[in-house]
Amino acid sequence: MKPVGLYLHIPFCVRKCAYCDFPSWSGREKWMAPYCERVIAEIRAKADASYLAETLYIGGGTPSIYPLPLMEKLFCALREAFVFAPGAEISMEVNPGTLKDGMAEALVSLGVNRVSMGMQCAQENLLRRLGRIHTFSDVRDGVKKLRAAGIGNINLDLMVGLPWQTVRDADESLDAALGLGVEHLSCYGLIVEEGTKLEAKVSSGAWTLPDTDTEREMYAHCLEKTKEYGLLQYEVSNFAKPGFACRHNLSIWRRGEYLGFGCSAAGMENNVRTQNPRSLSDYLKGVKPEVTQLSEEDAMFESVMLGLRLREGVREKDFYRMHGKHLQDVYGEKWQRAMKAGLLQYENGALFCTERGLDVMNSILVDLM
Ligand code: SF4
Repeated sequence: MKPVGLYLHIPFCVRKCAYCDFPSWSGREKWMAPYCERVIAEIRAKADASYLAETLYIGGGTPSIYPLPLMEKLFCALREAFVFAPGAEISMEVNPGTLKDGMAEALVSLGVNRVSMGMQCAQENLLRRLGRIHTFSDVRDGVKKLRAAGIGNINLDLMVGLPWQTVRDADESLDAALGLGVEHLSCYGLIVEEGTKLEAKVSSGAWTLPDTDTEREMYAHCLEKTKEYGLLQYEVSNFAKPGFACRHNLSIWRRGEYLGFGCSAAGMENNVRTQNPRSLSDYLKGVKPEVTQLSEEDAMFESVMLGLRLREGVREKDFYRMHGKHLQDVYGEKWQRAMKAGLLQYENGALFCTERGLDVMNSILVDLM
């Protein structure tokens, strides 16, 4: 059977966060039921009993506000369309402000065994400014509810570089998150995306962002604190207790194949990338996905670009299995400069970034391109 990851996008939110440019919308509840029908049609169209689903990731948007009866229908359709591997990782994103009593149990009964919550930071004033609908105590309560329901694999997302965030704020947030004993932490630097409220506030001077050195200090503290709490960095922004790395994302970084369902969802099979329409109405109307056939050169570069994000790096045996070529033969000359500068290493059959290299990955990729 062919191992694949599945991704399901739920694009509905309670309120749009100031920094968010994901395909997600508030106030579109009337489209929730038609969306379910459309996604089911997409799942059925791609059904294949020879696919072994090793992971399912339900992201958004806010999947935890999607009505449970509709979510159940989507799960049924997925289970009818694909064979799920025993012990498949089934992750769902949950907004801590939406985890009502009984919901954690309902998710477990659907098969969810990993939950990712967007905490972002611990300070209420910062959360409010960002437009988040929760407080840190919602996160704490959420973790308790999930544990009581039997979820043994929880991720919290944090952000650094938030408007007015100090290093002390970031440290407090890290301690608060890690103190909850979660298995996984993601820590992202805030990106000012075009067209967001954040961009308007920053460009008008109304909101001030920490400077680059301060943000780097926050990230450096994240590296230290995660170590103290026993979480290992396995990707630039991701940390996990041993055995709890996100299998879905790990497979994507290793360039495993995946199918995407829902508006804006992407898929990758046999070097063909598909991208569903980003607009909800186009998706509901049945507008076809964009299809891109990657050249062999692009596919090899993608393997390197994604693999270098991982501490394990690009594994020679995986690269050879996917592309029928040795890393050394394709990139051996191009990687010399970064190797000499101590940014890249090749050891035990893998090419990987050193700690310094992870910081300047873009310049390494330019060399390898
Ligand atoms: S909850 Fe997530 S997807 Fe929804 S608006 Fe906020 S950041 Fe975007």
